[in-house]
Amino acid sequence: MNVFVTGGAGYIGSVCVESLLDAGYTVTVFDNLSEGHRAAVDPRATFVQGCLSDPALITRAVAAARAEAIFHFAAHALVGESMKNPAKYFRNNVAYGLNLLEAAAAARVRKFVFSSTCATYGPPERVPMTEDLPQRPINPYGESKLMFEKMLQWYQQLHGLEFIAFRYFNAAGATEKYGEHHRVETHLIPNVLKVALGQAAQCEIFGTDYPTPDGTCIRDYIHIADLAQAHILGLAPGKTGFYNLGNGDGYSVREVVQMCEKVTGKKIPAVAKPRRPGDPPRLVAAANKAVVELGWQPRYPTLEAIVSTAWAWHQRHPAGYTD
Ligand code: UDP
Repeated sequence: MNVFVTGGAGYIGSVCVESLLDAGYTVTVFDNLSEGHRAAVDPRATFVQGCLSDPALITRAVAAARAEAIFHFAAHALVGESMKNPAKYFRNNVAYGLNLLEAAAAARVRKFVFSSTCATYGPPERVPMTEDLPQRPINPYGESKLMFEKMLQWYQQLHGLEFIAFRYFNAAGATEKYGEHHRVETHLIPNVLKVALGQAAQCEIFGTDYPTPDGTCIRDYIHIADLAQAHILGLAPGKTGFYNLGNGDGYSVREVVQMCEKVTGKKIPAVAKPRRPGDPPRLVAAANKAVVELGWQPRYPTLEAIVSTAWAWHQRHPAGYTD
């Protein structure tokens, strides 16, 4: 089966590409390298450098790849940035994404697998969060992903484009070859590990006055190899709908810092900073639906395993990818 992967040079995309290739799929990566890295593209994949802003280019690329399925990772994904520059999020994640949907429908692609997010829910009424909770995002990032989820439902109904959308909780960890390297790093685990690597003197904790036991935000961390496994299971014909992907365990920012100290054996000083706008206090998944309906079985369900794989990768690649 031919799979066309947008954003396949990015963090989650690169690992999904590796998993697809290991499972015997033929992969074309489409990425503009604005966030991704050429070195993160598995050499077994065909690489097309391009931008979803160009409808003619994307239509040609989908056709040339003889795509039977599309994995759509290419997007902007930073809560904080989306609060400062909402247009970037609506333009890239919604308008440019629509170019891809149109190309998929025109090429009669069988399956569209979408990277959505728990940020589509906003602060939940209850945790762990099931897929049927109301979706009331509190930042433009979550709103842009929710808009795309709605477009997918219409394209399925009107064009027969079968979709499956995964609402990721906090993607983390690494495989042997591919890990997390953003040119501007905003994510918690890599920023904390930078201190252990000697690249920063201290880490920062955004908000210590949340209504949580230690006052810091609680998140559900999920290993990227486990995300990749779910995506491949989602390719099966007839699998459609929305699925949370998380472990069902919530860890506070302080608990993550402590786990990084345990895994690295280094002291990691942390300073309290003001809250980051757009952050819900607590996001924890109920992912039973993916387990029951897709047969999903996370292989790295503990925070210790997740942080350990990230640490191993960062030690081997202290400067990340070099391009
Ligand atoms: N965070 C933090 N310090 C950092 C980076 C993140 O305290 O250097 C907090 C952030 O405010 C949030 C949690 O850690 O509560 C996870 O943030 P991240 O950016 O990793 O993922 P998000 O939940 O925004 O997708």
